[in-house]
Amino acid sequence: MDNRIIKWLIVGLVLLAGCGQVAKENSENGRLNIVTTTGMIGDAVTNIVGDSANVTALMGPGVDPHLYKATQGDLQKLTNADLIFYNGLHLEGKMGEVLEKLGKLKPVVPVAQNIEDSKLRKVPEFNNNYDPHIWFDVSLWIEAVKQIDNTLQEQDKDHAAYYHNNALEYIKQLEELDVWVREQIATIPEEQRILITAHDAFGYFGDAYGIEVKGLQGISTLSEYGLRDVSELAKYIVDHKIKAVFVETSVSQKSINAVVQGAQERGFEVTIGGNLFSDAMGEAGTPEGTYVGMVRANVNTIVEALR
Ligand SMILES: [Zn+2]
Repeated sequence: MDNRIIKWLIVGLVLLAGCGQVAKENSENGRLNIVTTTGMIGDAVTNIVGDSANVTALMGPGVDPHLYKATQGDLQKLTNADLIFYNGLHLEGKMGEVLEKLGKLKPVVPVAQNIEDSKLRKVPEFNNNYDPHIWFDVSLWIEAVKQIDNTLQEQDKDHAAYYHNNALEYIKQLEELDVWVREQIATIPEEQRILITAHDAFGYFGDAYGIEVKGLQGISTLSEYGLRDVSELAKYIVDHKIKAVFVETSVSQKSINAVVQGAQERGFEVTIGGNLFSDAMGEAGTPEGTYVGMVRANVNTIVEALR
């Protein structure tokens, strides 16, 4: 054989071996590399896969998904992922393009995908889109978990039965949580069931558990609020004698402080009822660092301040 041909054959073999190496790094020991946008989705996936896959959530505690842009490190993780889950419904407002591009190369799945339109809140001021904060209604989040379960069973057939069992177990916990939230909110006197927050994240929560919800900013934290909004909300608080308003861990406290001050200027004392986990969970390793813990912490904070 011609020496040149042999040389090219060797180059080709080295390249092939190199590609094989990359593929092996992508899914170590046959474990899927799964990347999620929010921590809530990461937590749901972890509950289903246990130790059988690697799970990385890009958005940590205090991170606002509406404003979040993928970093260089995130792009690396997304490129190396075998499977990507994101919320969808325009929650990840600044990652749409990246996710769309990746979707041509690998499964990129919005967890809100199979929720019926009739169960979603249409929001005229959010470009007529649906409200993306589905995790605040635990029964809607159960549907997202089912979507994750179905996708995992398709993508990792060897572990399908194990994943499905774990998913059923997790869903049972979520069903109990749903009942608990409803019972807790019902302990707040009806006229005091008004939840005021920095941005409109709690619409599904209000609809599901019977509490009126008002946010200073719109559905996305990208929307602006003005002096008029602050003074209108302050007036509303005074008129309804609302005891407490709430801060969100992923949104600046400045806006809510302005509302509290506005009420004070009208001679009414409203307190800050505490920190709610709206679009991000708490620190890993704390109870609020899981979805179930985050929901429980929010409900306890709300009930304590408004009852
Ligand atoms: Zn939000």
